[in-house]
Amino acid sequence: MRKAASPPKTRKASAVQATGACVCGAVRLEIDVPARWAWHDHAETSRRAQGCAYATYVGSYRSRFRILQGAEAITRFEDKVAGTTRSFCGRCGTPLTYERSHSPTMVNLPRALFDERTGREPRYHASLREAPDWAYTGAPLAPLKGYPGIMWERPRRKPRREIDDFL
Ligand SMILES: [Zn+2]
Repeated sequence: MRKAASPPKTRKASAVQATGACVCGAVRLEIDVPARWAWHDHAETSRRAQGCAYATYVGSYRSRFRILQGAEAITRFEDKVAGTTRSFCGRCGTPLTYERSHSPTMVNLPRALFDERTGREPRYHASLREAPDWAYTGAPLAPLKGYPGIMWERPRRKPRREIDDFL
């Protein structure tokens, strides 16, 4: 009688993975779930690098992170002064990883890359002092007449005195 085949050996540290991909699909990656942590980064550098009001990252131990496909498409930018390295898909520009020299065992990934749950909710906010004054912070919104699906933030009412001064 033949012995049952043993499962293939894998380096995965968890039975559950979350997979992510860039916009064009050239790069696919995964982390073991749960991620180490997750947070919203309001720093100017992350805002520029990702082209958004703030970046939401999940942090993973490097040992729990793998590139599944498209490693040759990844371009890296090292900021030696800041001690950071950011990578992105060289084909479509999607930000992929954000690494910091002071925490070499960790790799940070935009939460938006993943469809599945990563096992961590982004409950922390970093660098809030660098948040821009145009970022949406949850003010009440109203429907914009004539544009279905568009909501808008009404301008704050000016104090009556300013209007009187103008007239
Ligand atoms: Zn891509």
